[in-house]
Amino acid sequence: MAVGLVSRSGEVSVLDAVPTLAADGAEVVIERLAVLVREAAGVARNLARDVVGVGLATPGIVDSRAGTVRYATPALPGWTGLALGRRLAEAAGLAVVVHNDGHAAAVGESAVGAAAGVPDAVVVVLGTGIGGGIIAGGRLVRGHLGGAGRIGHLSVDAGGRPCWCGARGCIEQYASGSAVAREAQAAVDRGAPTTLRALSGPVSAADVVQAARGGDALAVGLLSEAGRFLGAALVSLVNLVSPQVVVVGGGLADAGALLLDAADAVLSERLPPAIRTSVEVRLSSLGHRAAVAGAGLLAWGRLVE
Ligand SMILES: [Zn+2]
Repeated sequence: MAVGLVSRSGEVSVLDAVPTLAADGAEVVIERLAVLVREAAGVARNLARDVVGVGLATPGIVDSRAGTVRYATPALPGWTGLALGRRLAEAAGLAVVVHNDGHAAAVGESAVGAAAGVPDAVVVVLGTGIGGGIIAGGRLVRGHLGGAGRIGHLSVDAGGRPCWCGARGCIEQYASGSAVAREAQAAVDRGAPTTLRALSGPVSAADVVQAARGGDALAVGLLSEAGRFLGAALVSLVNLVSPQVVVVGGGLADAGALLLDAADAVLSERLPPAIRTSVEVRLSSLGHRAAVAGAGLLAWGRLVE
């Protein structure tokens, strides 16, 4: 969980982060959030800045009008159905505006990041899962009750790997940080030749990226494969939304060209040239600040008009 002070123009300062430790349950996580908010508000006061409220970005489908989480991954126990906005407002003593984290990242990239000045953009965040958001005509596409842009659950294989959401072949099962780590661990477990075998603990996505940078063929291949699946999902997104720019962020985006070259190649193979040349894939310029900036901006938009 990251916290920052966000100016009216989307500038993020005084960023701090703590582990979510979601398995502790929603009550404990909300109390942890309240501590972060109170600390950040204290810093703001010391800088003689007024805090107008809290913008909170969370995984899950968020009804931002009601401030409730309609549906969340089982990795966040107690989150589905939670009146998160009201609960954090009570705990922190400030007005709270809640949005989906991918939506917030899209707003952040669109306002002050890699898609600044671009009216039609898609932002894909490759983290533990995959989230994202769609900006069309300069506005965030929220969808009915906030459910638009669930990019991680675009299927790239109708009979493919099962996903926790109930579907199969979801891109989250191929191109998320946890999917890449899982594939790498499976390769290590079956004794494949790779420098990853020298690690003491379980393999992480960051380990795979580091090994690939060092030239490890298995790690390079895993990132390339994830990039090809990502590319297949982006083909569908481009056909559906027609963005000028696709921004790829999240922890796995640290792989840079090791991931995106493969995605770019699939876009070139599978889109007609006139469409392919109209869209550009860019790396996030904000990293995990994107969702912080966007959550802040969405709160400014709701609380101060
Ligand atoms: Zn899914």
